[in-house]
Amino acid sequence: MSSPTAAERTGATPPRSPIKPKASRRTQSRTGTARPARAQQGPSHQLEADELGALHNELDRWFAENARELPWREADCSPWGVLVSEVMLQQTPVVRVLPVWLDWMERWPEPADLAREASGEAVRHWGRLGYPRRALRLHAAATAIVEEHGGKVPGTYEGLLGLPGVGDYTAAAVAAFAFGERETVVDTNIRRVHARLVSGTALPAPSLTAAEMRLAETLMPQDTALSVRWNASVMELGALVCTARSPKCSDCPVRAECAWLAAGEPPPSYVPKGQAWHGTDRQLRGAVMAVLRVAEAPVARGMFEQAPADLGFAAEGTAVPLAALHRLNSAPEQLERALDGLVRDGLAELHDGDYRLPA
Ligand code: SF4
Repeated sequence: MSSPTAAERTGATPPRSPIKPKASRRTQSRTGTARPARAQQGPSHQLEADELGALHNELDRWFAENARELPWREADCSPWGVLVSEVMLQQTPVVRVLPVWLDWMERWPEPADLAREASGEAVRHWGRLGYPRRALRLHAAATAIVEEHGGKVPGTYEGLLGLPGVGDYTAAAVAAFAFGERETVVDTNIRRVHARLVSGTALPAPSLTAAEMRLAETLMPQDTALSVRWNASVMELGALVCTARSPKCSDCPVRAECAWLAAGEPPPSYVPKGQAWHGTDRQLRGAVMAVLRVAEAPVARGMFEQAPADLGFAAEGTAVPLAALHRLNSAPEQLERALDGLVRDGLAELHDGDYRLPA
């Protein structure tokens, strides 16, 4: 199936949609991430067909006027470009992803271009996006695309899910946004919008539930092209308007239908866990990776343990990220844990006491 055009993604008024959910066909990803079992019945908050049709119309109009112009949304963006964007955007904001995505697309416009490289190059050019195991996963996916799919990204949810490192969300999102398939795409932003708009709660459940999947399936237009735009528009509303900390309800195109506003904006029933950073192993691992990314030769363990000044470095090259690492003032056992963890996760290799990116 061909990719949807820009007009299809942002076009005008959709027809009314029946609200019968699509039948379930999957519960478990190759990566082992369990997806809640599919619906046997509708959501607890039932919308009438005309209410749902109005929601579709309002959000579709809003999306046509307000959606950000992003290169992976362009009609000529390849399925590979969409796949890379979906992996990069997980837990990382658009503004940080954009330059790295552009660099990757220039360097590796096709999966075969990345598959030819050592996996360490994917990690090197991941930059500071965080969670660098995603770079290894993309490299493994590119290799499988070349070896098992003739270099073409598979065009179905099932085919995508069969790629190493591609989970349920990514498979659904790429099937929808690259191949125009009707798939239930449920990310953090979509969950939050559904929770407020339909369920009337400030936050979704701490982890994805079967009821949320039922709701998402029920809300999605039956028409395939409209379902693609619906997924994109709800996601965009969550990113731009119905944000986690301070929803801009006065700017919201669906405020008249919002169950959370109608309920008097009840507070969340739990406090979301903050993402600690300073002083964590994650911060230290990031600092070690910053050294390995710029290093042109393997880095001796002693360099991580001693201040760069003691090693006689000029303030350039690896000395800069090494200085940043030493400013963390981490305990020796934390450094050891970080280095061991990076080797164990395949993000670094250890040879004769020297560390380097994977070859
Ligand atoms: S009215 Fe406010 S809470 Fe409701 S969907 Fe819009 S932005 Fe979110």
